[in-house]
Amino acid sequence: MEINLPNAVECLIVINCGSSSLKFAVFSLAGETVLLKGLAERLDRPDAVLTLTRDGRSEVLAIPWGSHHTALQKSVAELGDLKPCGFGHRIVHGGERFTRSALIDERVFSAIEECSSLAPLHNPANLIGIRVARELFPDLPQVAVFDTAFHQTLPAKAFLYAIPFHYYEDLQIRRYGFHGTSHHYVSLEAAGILGKPPQHTSLITIHLGNGCSACAVKNGASVDSTMGLTPGEGLVMGTRSGDVDPALHQFLHDQTGMPLGEITTILNSRSGLLGLSGLSNDMRTLSDAARAGHPRAKLAIEVFCYRLAKSICGLMAGLDSLDALVFTGGIGENSSEVRALTVAHLKILGVSLDCEDNANHGKSNHGWISGPNSRIPCLVVPTNEELMIAREALCLISLTDLPRP
Ligand code: ADP
Repeated sequence: MEINLPNAVECLIVINCGSSSLKFAVFSLAGETVLLKGLAERLDRPDAVLTLTRDGRSEVLAIPWGSHHTALQKSVAELGDLKPCGFGHRIVHGGERFTRSALIDERVFSAIEECSSLAPLHNPANLIGIRVARELFPDLPQVAVFDTAFHQTLPAKAFLYAIPFHYYEDLQIRRYGFHGTSHHYVSLEAAGILGKPPQHTSLITIHLGNGCSACAVKNGASVDSTMGLTPGEGLVMGTRSGDVDPALHQFLHDQTGMPLGEITTILNSRSGLLGLSGLSNDMRTLSDAARAGHPRAKLAIEVFCYRLAKSICGLMAGLDSLDALVFTGGIGENSSEVRALTVAHLKILGVSLDCEDNANHGKSNHGWISGPNSRIPCLVVPTNEELMIAREALCLISLTDLPRP
């Protein structure tokens, strides 16, 4: 598909493709603003829908049995005088092959396919997004931006599991870390707020969304992450357990007869905040319920915050100095309660919050929420993974002398 219009505004399309969903955002090259965004859900089903949002107004289109191809085709038909110059794709797993974003050619496409064994639910779906974008715009450059790439600077002492070494050599079993685009973005933003060059800034960045991870950033580079071989390791999350005893699978199997796959599903989809509370994986629901006296909602939040505080202390082992703790993601940006309960476990380190700044999420103090006597500054920095993907894609596209359609 070719779009040739007078007065065209150049834009870049960021795509985050799941197995039955396709999320996209169209960025103007000039102002880094989102001109159009969309979410197609329940694809390949009779109730498939596409929600398009422009200028704060959303419209929902029914696209019965619509595929990823249909969803993207319908979306680009809405571009009007916007002229795409390329695509940035969120790719979950880049293994050890990708230490940074990559312009997609046949070799890169195959390498992403080869990483699918490490992320069987995600990489094949991400590849669908690349395929449909290429079908519709065969002449435009496509860039892959990996969730794992930022963490490829982890040293061996942080990424190795203490299991027989040949499993790392033969099967690449190691800790990879995820949410890299978010940790990278907020670490750059935080360095800006602190007024320091990123390469001289050391941070612990804490991404708390439905998935949760924390990252030690030493002089601008990731040196440890709470997530591991899969995004299941580490912190308590919405529906994921995070760290458990490695003997748990065997124990549960022996006691209940459940097959391995079912146990994995429980740890991924029915654990975390949902499993502990028996109520919800959504922090807003749990906070309301806890305030209304629901004991297990309160307990779930306590476990969540305690485990987070413990992990923050652990990540400090990777750093020589610490310029700030940085909270981000839906929970990190919006829950003053989670931040306060977490920091309450860090008293021994002399960390404290300013009640008012924490209550308004740092909005009236350039992101700062720590108290005047806190030995470590604390910041709230809204993440923007799509913008980071757009920047990475644009950077690679402009570095490469590509024929423009
Ligand atoms: P995702 O990982 O899917 O991108 P988000 O980053 O949007 O998710 O985070 C979703 C989480 O953020 C949910 O648990 C939601 O309850 C929580 N959240 C959003 N707003 C608030 C709020 N005002 N207070 C507490 N939690 C919030």
